Parts: sequence; C-alpha cells; structure tokens
Amino acid sequence: MTPRHALRIRVRGIVQGVGFRPFVYRAASRHGIAGHVLNGDEGVEIHAEGAPEDLARFAEEIRSSPPPAARISAFEAEPAGVSGAASFAILGSEKRAAPTVRVAPDLPVCAACLAEMRDPADRRHGYPYVNCTDCGPRFSVIEGLPYDRPRTTMKSWPLCERCRGEYEDPLDRRFHAQPVACPACGPHFAYLSGTRRLAGDAAAVAAAAAALARGEIVAVKGIGGYHLACDAANAVAVLALRERKYRKERPFALLARDLATARGLCRLDAPAEELLVSAARPIVLAPARVGLPLVAPDTDELGLMLPYAPLHELLFDAGAPAVLVLTSANRSSEPIAYRDEDALRSLAGIADGFLVGERPIARRVDDSVARAGAFGPVVLRRGRGYAPAPAATFPDGPPVLATGADLKNAVTLVVGGQAFVSQHIGDLDHEPARVAFHETLRDLCAMWEVAPEVLIVARDLHPDYVSSRAAREITAARHVALQHHRAHVASVLAERGAWDARVVGFAWDGTGYGDDGTIWGGEVFAGCVAGGFERVAHLRPAVLPGGDAAALYPPQAAAGFLAQLDLAGDLSGAPFLFPERFARALDLARRDVRCFPTTSVGRLFDAAAALCGFVREISYEGQAAAWLEQLARRGAAGRDYPLPWAAQGLDFRPLLAALVEERRRGADPAALARGFHEALASALVAGARRACEAAGTDVLVLSGGVFQNELLLRLVRDRLERDGGPQAWTNRAVPPNDGGISLGQAALAAFHPAAAAPCSS
Ligand code: ZN
Ligand code: ZN
Ligand code: FE
Repeated sequence: MTPRHALRIRVRGIVQGVGFRPFVYRAASRHGIAGHVLNGDEGVEIHAEGAPEDLARFAEEIRSSPPPAARISAFEAEPAGVSGAASFAILGSEKRAAPTVRVAPDLPVCAACLAEMRDPADRRHGYPYVNCTDCGPRFSVIEGLPYDRPRTTMKSWPLCERCRGEYEDPLDRRFHAQPVACPACGPHFAYLSGTRRLAGDAAAVAAAAAALARGEIVAVKGIGGYHLACDAANAVAVLALRERKYRKERPFALLARDLATARGLCRLDAPAEELLVSAARPIVLAPARVGLPLVAPDTDELGLMLPYAPLHELLFDAGAPAVLVLTSANRSSEPIAYRDEDALRSLAGIADGFLVGERPIARRVDDSVARAGAFGPVVLRRGRGYAPAPAATFPDGPPVLATGADLKNAVTLVVGGQAFVSQHIGDLDHEPARVAFHETLRDLCAMWEVAPEVLIVARDLHPDYVSSRAAREITAARHVALQHHRAHVASVLAERGAWDARVVGFAWDGTGYGDDGTIWGGEVFAGCVAGGFERVAHLRPAVLPGGDAAALYPPQAAAGFLAQLDLAGDLSGAPFLFPERFARALDLARRDVRCFPTTSVGRLFDAAAALCGFVREISYEGQAAAWLEQLARRGAAGRDYPLPWAAQGLDFRPLLAALVEERRRGADPAALARGFHEALASALVAGARRACEAAGTDVLVLSGGVFQNELLLRLVRDRLERDGGPQAWTNRAVPPNDGGISLGQAALAAFHPAAAAPCSS
C-alpha cells in the first residue's frame, strides 16, 4: 500500500464567490483525495490527503485550471500531518482575524443560466434573478465577509427545498452559489406606472418592454443601481430624457441587444469586441457607424455595452427596442440611485414607469467605461465588473487609505498587500456624491475590518478639497499629503508593481494643486515611486483670469494664455466671435488682477478649442477638450506648428499665435485642431526623449485626464514607433483621469511611511 501523505494548500486571490470550493471538491473526487476545503479570511484553505502522486496531480489542477472567474494571486502548498480523513468535505466559512480575502466583482449572466431562463420547461423560465457559481451578483449583494448567504442582500429569502438541494450538492452548478434563488422562493420584479402596480416577473417585464417600444422612459433596477432606459432610435424619447434629466450634451451610453447589433452601431476592432464581451461588460467607447446626434452630440464615438443582467435579456426577448439608451438614474452629476425609495422619489417626473426588483442592492456600483486604446485596453471609469478587484499588489506594510481627488472621486484601501480601488463615486462638489464618498470610506474599512489607529491616510495636497478635509477628520490615523500629479504618475507604476523603476512621467490634466500652491497640470517628473519624483519641466505658466470660472468658459481660459501674445486686433468679430467675457478676462490677465498662475495643459486645450470655435459655456467637465479632439479627427494632417521647450517651460506662444493667424486667414478649424494635437504630440515626444536621456531611463509614463484623448495618444505612439524613443507606460486598470489618483496616493504613502504624521489640524 502506498503511504498516505497530506498537504495544506492555501489559495489567495479572487477565490470566493466564483465556484472555487465546488471546483476543489470535484477535483478531489477525481483524484481520490480525502480532506476538506473551506473559505478562510485570507482565501481558500485546503487540507488534502492521499497518495503522493495523486496529491501532486490534485494540487497542480487547483493551481493551473481554476474556475473562469477566479484569479489566483498566491498559491502555497506545504506538507501537513495526516489525519486519516475518510472522504472529502466542504466546510463552512471560518471567521478569524481581519479578512484580507478578495471579493469578486459582479459577473454577467452565464450561458447555462440563460439557457434555463429561456427554456419553458425549466423551473427558472423567465426568472430575472437566475444565477449560479459562474455568474451573477457579488460585490453589489455582499454586506460582509466572508462571503456567505447570511451576509448578502439575499438573506431574507430562505431557500426552497429544491434550491437548497442544489446549494448543498457539491456536484451541482449552484453548489454554494450564495445568491441562488428560483421563482418559488426568491425575489421578484414588479412594474409601477402612475398608480398602477403590475406584479409578476413576466407581466412586469412585458409592460416595461411595451412602454419602451412606445417611446416612454423607464427606470430599471439593475445590478449596481437604477438606470433610465429609452428607445435610442426614438428622437422624441431621447430628447425628453435629456430635458427631464437636465443633461444637455453629455453623451448617453447604449445597451445593444447583442454583438451583431453592436457591430451595426460601431466599428469594433478585435480588442474592442473583447472588452465588450469581457466578464466586466463595461461601456466601450468606439467609433460610430451611425449618427445619433441626440445620444452623443458633437462626437463620432458611441459608448456601447452588452446585456449583463438576466433582466436585460428578458426585456429584449419581450420586444424592447434593440438599442436602448441606458444611463445611470440620477439628476445630472449625482451618483447613481440604488435604494428603491430614493429612486422612486428622485426619478418621479423623469421616468414614466419603474421596473423594480425586490433584491436590495448593498452598495451602488455604476457601469464601467473602457476603451481599446492606442496603448491597449484602458478603464476610464472603474465600476461594476472591476470593483472591488485589487488594482495592484503592494509589498507588506501598514494599511493605507487614500481619499483621491475631488473630481471623478474614487478611494483606495491597501490591506494585506492588496490595493482595493473603490468604484467610481463622482464629483465631490455635489452633496449626494459627498454622502456616497463617506459611505464608501466606511464601507471599505468595515468590509476589511481596518481600524483608524493602524491606518496611514493619504490625501491630496490641496488643503480645501472635500476629500482632503475628510481625510483629516480621521484623527486617529497618521497622515500624509501627496502632490496630485506625482500621484497620477505613481498610479501607472503601482499598477505594474514597478516600485523602483526610474521613469520620466508626464502628468497632463486640468487642475491639481502644485508644490508652490499654484495650479499645475502640465508637469514632467523624473524619479521612481520608492525614491520620489522631481519636477524637471512643465508648461510655461499662464494664468486663470477670474479663478475657477475660467475652467467653465473656454474663451475666458484662452485669455489667460493669449494675454502673453501680441494680438493684432480683437477677437470679438468673425471668425472668432469671442464673447464679452473674453475681453474682460484679457483685461484682468494683462493687469494681473484676480489671476491665478497655472501650467494646466487642460486649459491650453480649452484655449485652442475657443480659437477653433468653442465659445460657449461647457456643460460637463472636459467637454471642450473632447470637442476639440472630435474636430481634429476630421481635420487634415500635416500642419507643423512650433511648440518649443524653453527655459520657462513648454512655450505655447508660437503655437497659439499660429492658430490665431491661420484662423483669421480662414483656415479650416478642423485642420487647426488637428495641427494643435500634432504639435502637442511632437513636443511631448521630443521632451520625453530629452528628459529620459537626462534621467538615464527609457521608460516614459503618461497619466492625467488629458491622456483620455485617444487621438493624442495615437499621435504620440506613431512618433515613438517611427523615430524610436522610450517605451510608453499608461494606465490600464485605473483611469488616467482623477479616478486613478487614489491608487497613486496610496503607492507614494506606502513607500514613504516616515512622511506620515499625526494629524495637526
Ligand atoms: Zn450562471
Ligand atoms: Zn427556490
Ligand atoms: Fe488630475
């Protein structure tokens, strides 16, 4: 008889809520292994006994072919004492010290569940809450760890006998699928319209689909919050949605019935399709094939997603239009509504009907936005499907909580070497977003059971940011303030775990508080995360005349740059048509009254947009730059505007002078916009080459909101490829905009813990 050996195996990563224990059980039965598996605080723990060769094969299978949604970050196997177990068992969850386990993001409905949902003979026929261990909600239903049904929003629906049978059968697809349910025992949907309430899943879905087909606006309770839906092809419906939602121009996302429909809407290359069908099912930005000016004004790009909730599939099956606008249900710039009472109250007057499901949503998780970009796939808004998977792995150290920046806020908690980047929260100048921000901070710390006394709290250098003030309120912690643009650069390096890599980092964005208290946004750094970053160059300083309002009016921002030029003649007449506001701002700038110095490339984009014809107020952040990019995509290439590096920084004066001059002579604004992008790309590459040489590195990091500009990235990539140059590293898992700031803050704080001090204010 072969001697019996025993192994203790620990698996860390995304291993809970993804069917890992049943997978281990099945592998154990195949290889004749006895012992047990359980969910521990740090992941999955296995005790395995059997013949040495069987044990080896068993361990290899666990390591190399885990379930599709699992992500193994660490696998340890060590010899253990033989206990003589007779069979293999799945034990309940073990609760010990603070949990460092990872929570899985929400998963899209799987093919097997869809087949059941569409099979009239199946007991889950037409059931909107169908799910299994391979699919369904996770983060949006979890109330605590470890992940077990009593700690989910499904706790109020006891399993019926048949569901319990599936839940307890290790060989069943629903073995320990925590949100498992069926029409007999689980929650249901209803349709509310006026005073009418239509109960029953099939009737409710049919009523909602019919309302959508009639051109009505329907609020639909989804996975991470409520959406507002309407027929994308119905201009009256889309216009009504814009008016009722106070959303003037910002593009709406679309839900396409299937991939074939999506292909009809957009030109999708292989990487874009891969993103569309990926487990995260993000909104994917891609070039439009069809014009939908009310859905996405002033742009040739559409934001598309595919169905991910069983409910979406049911709506299309019931005759909903094949392309729906599907936008977060909220008033403009507020966080997505996710509690029933809030949604019904705040959406009254916007939605004609409500498709409401009974399963509560534990926390709001907005749809993610991604793009298959010039340097690979990039997440532009991190939400459902990505959060709360760790975005980076850190070396061991004390827990760090980073509070991010005030625009596009997201926060990061680093615990047990994992950097958990929260879902997108929003702009903290809005009260509801502030509430959401505080909820998320509490939620993260509660979920991973981190006490403030052990925390290092990282915040932005800006003393008046809401996120900075909130950080200072955590008085028991040690604190450190990080410069915004260094955090942008560090976010890219954190994603790669490149702590010692010496790089040149370009941080170009709209606004960030600089070391000297001025507004930065066109910065070049040299250094590394572990050693710190030195500012080696920047945009030549301009001013913001009249302060923050300059960010709302491109001509006002333009005045802060054009004041340094000899403008022959004024710009109020054709072709510029600058409003009165410009002349007043120019006067302020020339007299240096109420002016704030800035090196912001974002504002330089605004100035160029104004010169190319964007002379009104913007209605959402970054609009003028997005408009300029779209204009440039239509413009002829080949203009070569000067944009030299000088002692005082990247000198924008000859570039803007050329734009003024050419426009005055009647040149096509699209060609000017294109030329502006080319000039920036050329200057970036030239500056990067020089800075890399001086710093002795061949790695260039690009981060900051400006690098959401796909045209600029492509022009940079083409130049680097054509002429040779440093390799470029960009963000992938967290956004290059301020949604990625908290990860960079956390990285800098983790590597400079000595800089952290008790709170002084
Ligand atoms: Zn499934
Ligand atoms: Zn049931
Ligand atoms: Fe920024």
